[in-house]
Parts: sequence; C-alpha cells; structure tokens
Amino acid sequence: MKNCKDVECMIIPYLNGQISERKMQKFIDHVMECPSCYEEMEIGYMATIGLERLEKGASINIEEEMKRMLEQSRKQIRLHTQIHRVSVLVNVGAMLGVAYTLIYQISIWCGFHMPF
Ligand SMILES: [Zn+2]
Repeated sequence: MKNCKDVECMIIPYLNGQISERKMQKFIDHVMECPSCYEEMEIGYMATIGLERLEKGASINIEEEMKRMLEQSRKQIRLHTQIHRVSVLVNVGAMLGVAYTLIYQISIWCGFHMPF
C-alpha cells in the first residue's frame, strides 16, 4: 500500500484526470481508507474544481461530488479490468486456434492422425 505522501502527490493529477488507471486504483483504495488523505483530497477538490465552479456562480457540494467522483472512477477501473480480462481470454483462444490449425496441417503433411 502506498504511503500518505505518495497519495497526496497524486491528488491534483487525479482531479485533473492525469494519472493512469493502475495508479488510480491504488490511489482510490487509499483515499477511501485514510481519513487524512480524504481530507487532503477535499481541499484539493475545493482548490481546483470547486473554485472553478464558484467562479461561475454555481453551488457546490464537495462531499457528495467527491463520493460520486470516486465511485465513478472505481466503476471505470472495474469495467476496464473486465474488458482487459476478456481480451486476454480472446487472445489465448485465438492462439490455441492457430496452434491447432498448424498442428493439423503438419499432421496432414506428415501423414499422421491427430490424436484429438
Ligand atoms: Zn493517507
């Protein structure tokens, strides 16, 4: 698990959408568990997104919005992990298919029968 200092350095990049998903997962896991980093993130949120919003005269509910943001990031990470898993399976399947075809070809050329 990352320590608080590492996580604090990631707050602004996270809010700006500038960190990779791999880092984001560790970041979110930590922020959800660590009250002091969560607080740091609230400050960061206020200083970036919050300020922008207030300049436009819109209201802001930091607690609500941050929860939603973290939840959304989690969903995004989960979805991408699933897509990644499926694509790995497809690749393995395709490779097995190619290997089987190759062995089948060789078996025809060499005149032996496939045992499967
Ligand atoms: Zn922390």
